[in-house]
Amino acid sequence: MTDTVLIVGAGAAGLYAARTLVQAGRSVVVLEARNRPGGRIHTFTDAGFSAPTEAGAEFMHGAVPLTRGLLDEAGLTSFPTTGSTYQVIKGHLHESEDFIQEVPQLLEQLHALPHDMPLADFLTEYFGEEQYAPMREQVTRFAEGYDAADAQRASSFALREELSGGGFDDSPHPEGTYGNLMARLVAEVEAAGGTFHFSTVVQEIRWQPGQVDIRTADGRRLQAAQVLLTVPLGIWQAPPDSPSYIRIEPELPEHRAAAANLGYGAVIKVLLEFKDAFWQQASPQLTQPMPDLSFLFSDAPFPTWWSQLPDPRPLLTGWLAGPAATRLRTTPAETLLAQALDSLAGLLGTTPAFLRSQLLAHRIVNWAADPYALGAYAYTTVGASEQRTTLGTPVANTLFIAGEGVYDGPYIGTVEAALTSGADAARQLLDA
Ligand SMILES: Cc1cc2nc3c(=O)[nH]c(=O)nc-3n(C[C@H](O)[C@H](O)[C@H](O)COP(=O)(O)OP(=O)(O)OC[C@H]3O[C@@H](n4cnc5c(N)ncnc54)[C@H](O)[C@@H]3O)c2cc1C
Repeated sequence: MTDTVLIVGAGAAGLYAARTLVQAGRSVVVLEARNRPGGRIHTFTDAGFSAPTEAGAEFMHGAVPLTRGLLDEAGLTSFPTTGSTYQVIKGHLHESEDFIQEVPQLLEQLHALPHDMPLADFLTEYFGEEQYAPMREQVTRFAEGYDAADAQRASSFALREELSGGGFDDSPHPEGTYGNLMARLVAEVEAAGGTFHFSTVVQEIRWQPGQVDIRTADGRRLQAAQVLLTVPLGIWQAPPDSPSYIRIEPELPEHRAAAANLGYGAVIKVLLEFKDAFWQQASPQLTQPMPDLSFLFSDAPFPTWWSQLPDPRPLLTGWLAGPAATRLRTTPAETLLAQALDSLAGLLGTTPAFLRSQLLAHRIVNWAADPYALGAYAYTTVGASEQRTTLGTPVANTLFIAGEGVYDGPYIGTVEAALTSGADAARQLLDA
């Protein structure tokens, strides 16, 4: 058992690392708290829904070479979103691709900024006048809604990179769902001799150089020479009295402090499958139709919605992210459903009762309430690069750390970030 690597977490990072290690001849055992692989990738098939549905990751943002590599291996491709983008601000509906007006002016100021600062401070300092109030709102809404960031902590330089990189290009769906890619990784790990223990909650890691002793919530003990921890940032940030806390003995104070300084946002995803795509046409019950609706951005309490176009499936997904989602962490799902339906009804010019009458299936996914995620994905705070390096630094060739939260690069908060960090950690382990 001495050359065994225990991997904590069977999300994208853990699975990619597991495959790399096992195919390089290492003995690998993956310990996963949930009864399924994938972590924040969760493609579910429930009786009420007509097809597999993404509760977590759904789109591909940018070139994403490792994600595309997995699709290629599977002989699969991706398909672009199609349709029209709408905005409803202060009740006024219009078609528009522009999330933020005055981007050139904003970018000019961001490029002139001598040092990084929290986004909220930047907006107050450089665009504090009344005339910029709508722009401040748009920028904040973008950072909170898209990056799940808290503008009080989010890096202005990160927004500069995002806006300069033309970050609003199309984000295609992977063909055959993200869940399918994770299932393939599991099969490959098993085929090469790796093993999985699902429903296995790691509670404590005792270590000394060259030896780790893991204790699980159901009283099991597992030993190995090395461990790769791929748990989300939310777990690293959990206080000792949280049921999600993982005790590390001896403690890693620098790693914990780095995690505390990093940004990790909340998301509530609302999945509503209807009898048909009634929102496409005006009717006596619906006065603000959105033909060809792809994305809808608004200032409603549940502000962002999208359809599955070009797939005609009548599924609308609602999205609330950032501090507003954090505040609703403990709100019951029924209340969240009612709030989401209120928002959608207001945007389409209909009633919640009409929406309910059209509803076939629904699911509320509150990621900050999930004990094995405690949030959705990372965002960049001021000084994040250094903190990510600290958190990702291996300890005594014995403890290794991966997961999207330690990734530093152009794909923050994505599946690509998780895969890359898994690949990096596997390399570190093989070199150790
Ligand atoms: C709502 C939502 C939408 C998203 N949309 C996109 C998108 O469109 N495109 C995109 O690229 N990315 C998206 N992401 C981000 C993407 O899903 C994540 O970055 C990525 O899946 C993280 O992978 P990971 O392996 O780092 O972490 P995880 O997938 O969280 O894996 C970590 C694993 O550790 C396990 N674990 C936790 N605690 C313990 C414990 N004590 N013992 C044992 N196991 C434990 C967890 O159960 C989990 O399976 C989205 C995320 C969310 C939540």
